[in-house]
Amino acid sequence: MTTTALEEIYISGLESVFSGLSKIGKLGDKPEDGYDRPAWSHEETKAIDYILDYAKRNGIDVWYDGLGNGILWIQGKTNKIVAGGSHLDTVPEGGLYDGGLGVAATLLTGIELKKISEEKPLERSFCGFIFRGEEGSSFGSPYKGSRGAFGPPFEKEILEREYNGIKLRDAVGLQSFNYEYLVNGVSSLSEKRRLYEGLAKYEPPEDVQLDINNIYSFLELHIEQAKLLEQMKLDSEKKKIFLGLGTSIRGARRLRFIVRGHWDHSGGTPNDRISGEWDNSDKKQKRAKYRSDANLAISYLNVAINEIKNKYTDQGKDLVATPSGINSDKELNEALGVYKSALNKVCAIGYTSWDIRSNSKSIREKFVEEVKDKISELQKEHNVSIEIENLGSSEPVEKLNYDLINLNKKTCEKLGYVPVEMPVGAGHDTAVVAKSGIPSGMILTSCVGGKSHRKDEKIYLEDALAGVNVYANSMLRLVMAETAVTR
Ligand SMILES: [Zn+2]
Repeated sequence: MTTTALEEIYISGLESVFSGLSKIGKLGDKPEDGYDRPAWSHEETKAIDYILDYAKRNGIDVWYDGLGNGILWIQGKTNKIVAGGSHLDTVPEGGLYDGGLGVAATLLTGIELKKISEEKPLERSFCGFIFRGEEGSSFGSPYKGSRGAFGPPFEKEILEREYNGIKLRDAVGLQSFNYEYLVNGVSSLSEKRRLYEGLAKYEPPEDVQLDINNIYSFLELHIEQAKLLEQMKLDSEKKKIFLGLGTSIRGARRLRFIVRGHWDHSGGTPNDRISGEWDNSDKKQKRAKYRSDANLAISYLNVAINEIKNKYTDQGKDLVATPSGINSDKELNEALGVYKSALNKVCAIGYTSWDIRSNSKSIREKFVEEVKDKISELQKEHNVSIEIENLGSSEPVEKLNYDLINLNKKTCEKLGYVPVEMPVGAGHDTAVVAKSGIPSGMILTSCVGGKSHRKDEKIYLEDALAGVNVYANSMLRLVMAETAVTR
């Protein structure tokens, strides 16, 4: 190809996008009060509307797919599609930048590409996605919009799940989209919609066919939601900006261990021994004979799981494990009678839930097997029964596309930022897109104190802009077919 070297894109106006977004779904007067934009809420629709309207006013074609994912489109010379995007829903009392940063980057990149395309048509088409309902906090499953578009379909049962007193099927319906795309195995991208309110004035372009099979690459920019990148900057002498390039995305397995013992008097029931009956050869059996203490067993169980985790991470294996809920589910507490615990009782019932993640499915499953072995030991030792409940899992993306990592690396270096290859800890829509076979990549930027999924989530504007510009310039290379990506 005889192209002259491309100009660089330079994006500076991130605040202009967030000044509008920061008014939608907020919980108080200030952005610091947090946001609530659940999946298929009016607030989520309003936020997507706002971005689509912004894009349309800058000459970009926009529409909704059949499920309500927002689409930005710039037609190129070929059917090959260079894609990117993120989400605008939030966890309850969430922040402005989780998902929002990637959407703002996609919008601003689209605007620059549109300007360029007016002088020199894009070689490949550009498509921006604003996915619905990425967060698992509403309706109990993450990646709802992206799975509706890229699969795999959910079990039908998901449609009946309620959040804020409304079923998922009704929430989708109320926003005038078709919930069937969540479960019927047909890509929601096959349908183009406009809303009856808000975007009624924008008709989707008729001739565009958004076919998943034509998507050439996918990129997502996201805040890191941890503090590695921030720390690297603080530790570096020249206070350079570090950007994360995802090498893999961890998949999670969630387990709940329900521990059952029996209620006893905390004073009358001996802990360890009763005089005259002590048998040194069999201490553990003796102890168990008198008590069947669920709380104590849970404590030992949590420590034991953590120790197994340490063994794995000491060996350099990718694994994170978190005791994310101890007797913390209101309804379950009611159902199991956990509330019957009292100061003067030995406890008969309780549970602990673990969130276990790794970028390797085999490592994660081996770990779970070891935990199960340990549980049979603990059951005997503490004279309790331990039931293991599966609360769901998501599969890891063991390898994100290396050509995209390389492209982003080169872009980072060109713009003067330090690229850091790292596994992505949190789940993202990219995992869904990558799993569908589309070459995918992620760029991560720091967030203040690593804080995310909370209302005081903040970015460093300079670092965020670095991420946006690497995203934009890598996109430019991709849409101009200056770089090839192998599947
Ligand atoms: Zn997110």
